[in-house]
Amino acid sequence: MTTTTNRPIPTPDERSAEFFRAAKEGRLLIKRCSNCGRNLAPQREACDACTSEALEWAEASGRGVVYSFVVMHQVLHPSFKDEVPYNVALVELDEGPRIISNLVGVANSDIRVGARVEAVFEDLSEEVAVPKFRTVAAD
Ligand SMILES: [Zn+2]
Repeated sequence: MTTTTNRPIPTPDERSAEFFRAAKEGRLLIKRCSNCGRNLAPQREACDACTSEALEWAEASGRGVVYSFVVMHQVLHPSFKDEVPYNVALVELDEGPRIISNLVGVANSDIRVGARVEAVFEDLSEEVAVPKFRTVAAD
């Protein structure tokens, strides 16, 4: 495995392998409830609305808005010591679910709640890519 970062890399397991496989292909997957049709964040194991555990993967557009964000100044893990200050954003996808990620290509001081964003995929290794978001012009 070729590692392109010193940061911790997610280890895909049977519950997440399809998500990371899709991310490696530049596709963002979310979950969809087979019972009521609600769209859910990819890590959900049961439906927020009807508690059904019958969930399936669905492909999201990758587009959404910045719902909230913080700028981290503390070094909470030594692998991030050269990266502070960095942003952590809560992105509300157009399909509804909110997912936590980072915004790239924008200065932390220029991040605004409500900004339109789209997913870009950062390769962390030959097996794993993760979704990040960049700001785009409003629709
Ligand atoms: Zn449901």
